[in-house]
Order: sequence, then structure tokens, then C-alpha cells
Amino acid sequence: MAQVRLSGIAKAFGKVTALDAMDLVIEDGELVCLLGPSGSGKSTLLRLIGGFETPSEGTIAIDGVDVTRLPPERRPTAMVFQSHALWSHMTVHGNIAFGLKLRRLPRAEIRERVERVLDLVGLSGYGARLPSQLSGGQQQRVALARSLVIEPKILLLDEPFASLDQHLRERLRDEVRDIQQRLGITAVFVTHGQDEALAISDRIVVLADGRMQQVGRPGEIYAEPKTAFVAGFIGAMN
Ligand code: ADP
Ligand code: MG
Repeated sequence: MAQVRLSGIAKAFGKVTALDAMDLVIEDGELVCLLGPSGSGKSTLLRLIGGFETPSEGTIAIDGVDVTRLPPERRPTAMVFQSHALWSHMTVHGNIAFGLKLRRLPRAEIRERVERVLDLVGLSGYGARLPSQLSGGQQQRVALARSLVIEPKILLLDEPFASLDQHLRERLRDEVRDIQQRLGITAVFVTHGQDEALAISDRIVVLADGRMQQVGRPGEIYAEPKTAFVAGFIGAMN
């Protein structure tokens, strides 16, 4: 089980209201995209779910437990960032194994789990390489593997492939969707690309100025935009 329930969430940074009046339930096993332009509050919302920030108002519960009450090592979430997230002096194996070593798992189990996730992201045999010996796409695959290896219930991705070219971005987003469904985990995927959101989501949350504009299945959002903003934003790239 991994259900995320946001109730009456607001987040302010000084005088800037980053998020306001957010109520949302993300169901177990769903992939939800947070879609909106730059500055709309997507990363802030993701960071709140991950427990990196605390809400100014409201609560976020994962399977009924308030996220802010869970110490970091007990949070069932893992985050994938856009870039620069790998440790350059560590091998691929070392990067992925790091979180497991912190948890003091036996060496044989660490080796087995690292190999399993490398296989999952299509990088079997790359364990001894350094990040600098990988392409940008391969580095993001390692970042994904490093998040998956701790077996999170909820995967949080913040524009994970935004720095890659379109072709690679499309391939990797489809791979993420496939892995997420195979493992049956809940995922929240931040993007400013409507094509990406329409392609992989169970549901899309459209954000603008820190507020939810519309929540719905890709077909609904596309065919029946509720506001002029949603219509314009979804239509912009098609
Ligand atoms: P997005 O990810 O959609 O681009 P963000 O969640 O990063 O948007 O930002 C939403 C708003 O909150 C923006 O106005 C941004 O400047 C502001 N903001 C985000 N983080 C901080 C912070 N740590 N301090 C001050 N303002 C912030
Ligand atoms: Mg962002």
C-alpha cells in the first residue's frame, strides 16, 4: 500500500505563496504527473511529499501517517532529480550501493540488489564505471537505479530527463512507466512537458501559480480542459 493524501496544503516562502488550497489523493500504484509552467509549484509539492519541506498549512499523509513525523530513513519515498545527482568519485556500483550500506545490509545482499536494479534499468555490466564514463541518459538511468534499490513505495521524479534530447527523453519516460507498473509502485512525476504527461500518466494534475487547475485522466484533460489556462497549456505543443 502507498497512498498519498494531501489535505488543505499551503506553502509559503516569506511573502511568496508557492502552493495554496491543495487537496489531492494519489492512489496506490498510480502514476500522477504534476504538470505546469516554471514557477507553478511542482517541485515544492514534490519536496513536501518527500518530507524535504514542511507545509505552512495542512497535512500530507502516506498510508495514513503524517510525513513530517517520519524520520528520513523511515520515509517510504525516493527522489530522482534532473541532474548532477551522482557522486563523481564513486563507481556506478558505489553510487547505487550507498543507501544500502547506510542501512547496513550484508555485502552479498547489496551486490545482488545492485545487480538486479542495474538489469532493470538496462545497465547490466556497467557497475565498475565512473559517472564520467557514461552518457547523460545512462547517468539518469543510474540515478533511477539508485532510487529503486532501496525499494521505495513511492518514487518521486523531478523533471528527471529534462536535460536530455527529445528522443532519449521519450524512451526513458516510457521505461520509467514500464518499471513503475512492473514493480507496482506509486509515482509522482514532475514535468513541464504536456506530451510527456499525456503519454505516461494515470492522472495529470495541472498547476498554475501554486494552485490546482484541473485533475484528471490524460484523455479528459486533453478533450475537456476546464479552464482557458489548461486549454492553452495543453494545446501549446500539439
Ligand atoms: P516549479 O518546480 O513548478 O518550477 P517551484 O516549486 O520551484 O516551481 O517554485 C514555486 C514558487 O515558489 C516560485 O515562485 C519559487 O520562486 C518559489 N520558491 C520555491 N522554493 C523556494 C525557496 N526555497 N525560497 C523561496 N522561494 C521559493
Ligand atoms: Mg521545479
